[in-house]
Amino acid sequence: MTNPKDPILDTLDHVKATLEFLAETGVTGFDCSQQSLERMERWAQWPVSTQEVESLEDIRSDLGDCRRCGLSKTRTHIVFGEGNPHARLVFVGEGPGYDEDMQGRPFVGAAGKLLTKIIQAMGLQREDVYICNIIECRPPKNRNPMPEEIETCFPFLERQITAIQPEVICALGKFAAQTLLNTQAPISRLRGRFHDYQGIPLMPTFHPAYLLRNPESKRATWEDIQQVMQRLGLRR
Ligand code: URA
Repeated sequence: MTNPKDPILDTLDHVKATLEFLAETGVTGFDCSQQSLERMERWAQWPVSTQEVESLEDIRSDLGDCRRCGLSKTRTHIVFGEGNPHARLVFVGEGPGYDEDMQGRPFVGAAGKLLTKIIQAMGLQREDVYICNIIECRPPKNRNPMPEEIETCFPFLERQITAIQPEVICALGKFAAQTLLNTQAPISRLRGRFHDYQGIPLMPTFHPAYLLRNPESKRATWEDIQQVMQRLGLRR
């Protein structure tokens, strides 16, 4: 009589085959840093059925008058994401600048005007997409966000993305791309091709503020955006 295969052995066979396949494709190890392990632990806590997925309003209300990090002492307004709660495309920037801090809205300054032009060149309006940032409060004098500030704020971004479930994410600049992809690779190496963020294709590209200082990089950015359009089936 043949024994039905033990489901655990069956699972182990699958894991073995997957690891062998990954080794063949050149993967030499896994990122088991504290940050990655904590992130995976949070995935396990996420609601799974769509009925349980929290709304953007729930997330905003949980954020409240946030005092979780030192940026709360110097900010004027919290800058939560805005746009279509069912957006197919989410843009993620770094963090609020002066104008955003004053108005409490993302990408409304000079870089925001350029982002709006990019969105319109795609044949869309700002209201069609969702625009948010890695951190929600402006760092003093626009300094770079500190790791502990990113760590505190990032779960709120992750939750916004889970609530929206976009088809594509476009990461604007180094901080957004490196944080979402959990890598230190430079934006010049990350941009131009799709990566994976929790099963969602993610295109890193240059930050609009960088483009204002380096207009020669606009062409490369447009190529990245065209790949996004193609993925979304938008006409070029
Ligand atoms: N730069 C960003 O990264 N985000 C904003 O909201 C504005 C400028």
